[in-house]
Amino acid sequence: MALMPILTAPDPRLKKKSKSIEAVDDGVRQLMDDMLETMYAAPGIGLAAPQVGVLKRVIVLDIDREEVKTGPLFMANPEVIEASDEDVTYEEGCLSVPEHYSDVARPARVRVRYLDRGGKQQEMDCEGLLATCVQHEIDHLDGILFIDHISALKRNMILRKLLKARKEKERETSEGKAAAKTKDKEPAAAL
Ligand SMILES: [Zn+2]
Repeated sequence: MALMPILTAPDPRLKKKSKSIEAVDDGVRQLMDDMLETMYAAPGIGLAAPQVGVLKRVIVLDIDREEVKTGPLFMANPEVIEASDEDVTYEEGCLSVPEHYSDVARPARVRVRYLDRGGKQQEMDCEGLLATCVQHEIDHLDGILFIDHISALKRNMILRKLLKARKEKERETSEGKAAAKTKDKEPAAAL
């Protein structure tokens, strides 16, 4: 298994539509395993292949909260086949939009169809944080970030800050300074 670098916005690869998997073969399983390891190391509770620069419809999740413990989930070609009319709002974060969080409203319950790690078709009913997380990851496969669900004003502000942070980091690196990184806030949920 290997850790993969996680792309951050604004990166054009995060805006692309990913391609369906034809079959879950050993290559796809290797990708799934590497993504899970990368997600745990980040740490996050969900990761989509385009976030590591692979434009394939693959996501991994592992939610470990008091209200829901899923264990590792691997999904190829996931699609929402039913969604509740009722919405729920959750403060979302994203490993590709580091250190920014925003309320996003999505259907509270969804039924998802996907191929599991063995290539078998499965359907799963999701609610709560799992429903939010699955929809957030499927969005990634269509080039959609959670900041695309919020106002353009707030989105542009976040993108500007991310660009500025990236430039500062590049400057520090070129000056040979150790990038001292302190986290002042734990992620509500990095997806
Ligand atoms: Zn995300």
